[in-house]
Amino acid sequence: MSTKKLVGLVKGVLIELGENPTREGLRDTPNRVARMYQEMFLGYDPKKKPKLTSFSNPNLHYDQIVSDHGYFYSHCEHHMVPFFGEYYFGYIPNGKIIGLSKIARLIDYCSAKLQVQENLTKEILDTIEKELKPKGTILIMKARHLCKEMRGVKKNNGEMTTMDARGIFKENYDKRKEFMNILALSSSLS
Ligand code: ZN
Repeated sequence: MSTKKLVGLVKGVLIELGENPTREGLRDTPNRVARMYQEMFLGYDPKKKPKLTSFSNPNLHYDQIVSDHGYFYSHCEHHMVPFFGEYYFGYIPNGKIIGLSKIARLIDYCSAKLQVQENLTKEILDTIEKELKPKGTILIMKARHLCKEMRGVKKNNGEMTTMDARGIFKENYDKRKEFMNILALSSSLS
């Protein structure tokens, strides 16, 4: 991503909007936007992809669910405006465990490009499945879509929820329910 090219392109957009990019308030804006894009869209750089270092743990003798919850920020590919919200992740290890901060970093990385929420949810689980080969994974993403809230129909509730479940979580309803119970428990504790 060339900073210089991005600066020029942002300047062009400002002019086309009817703005004067040399006025004081806007003078540094193309530069700031270019640097912000480089940060928010680092998901296009394969070198920035976090390594999912895992640890062997053969002592896990039953189908223990490991769960995590956090926030994510992405941009929709149709309008280039943010969609952002919370994720709820769970997995059942298969002899290998992973630090939950790695999951958070992977979600940040996958979020940092233009896409639709359905594909984001899928891509995250695809990557974890490939690297960790767990017995099961589940991911729920709940997000506000500003393209729905700010334009067109201007519906207040631009919320969308996606869920993907693999392995035991897909095949076994009770296990999926157990995960939902953990979520209910953790939200009542917070
Ligand atoms: Zn959109």
